[in-house]
Amino acid sequence: MTESFHLVCPSCNAVNRLASTKLDEHPLCGKCRQPIFNGHPLELNSGNIDRHLQRNDIPVLVDFWAPWCGPCKMMAPQFAQAAGSLEPRFRLAKVNTEAEPELGGQWGIRSIPTLVLFRAGREVARQSGAMGAQDIIRWAKSQA
Ligand SMILES: [Zn+2]
Repeated sequence: MTESFHLVCPSCNAVNRLASTKLDEHPLCGKCRQPIFNGHPLELNSGNIDRHLQRNDIPVLVDFWAPWCGPCKMMAPQFAQAAGSLEPRFRLAKVNTEAEPELGGQWGIRSIPTLVLFRAGREVARQSGAMGAQDIIRWAKSQA
């Protein structure tokens, strides 16, 4: 029996159901025909975060950051690079805590950057402080 996954489209937020064997075949969204994985972290906000955290059957790794934070800016290209390697086993996403302060509060973010790994809408791990791409990849795989 082929396992199937629910994946939320980063472009239109539609929930796609996909056979696990198709994960590596650059799947397109059934609704908007955009790639479900594009190698770039997805921007989350109060309008789309619940759907992405709760409806994805793969773990979602979220970078809580802010534009005024130097270490966050240093980590951004590292996180983007990690996205290219961790997809499609993980969804990588970012929350700008300056634009979305209530999300930082909701998840108790006390310092940034903080990475939080979610599975089925629940936090399973978190790590504060800037990390390089290889460390991000290693950490995510060890926690998932
Ligand atoms: Zn779509």
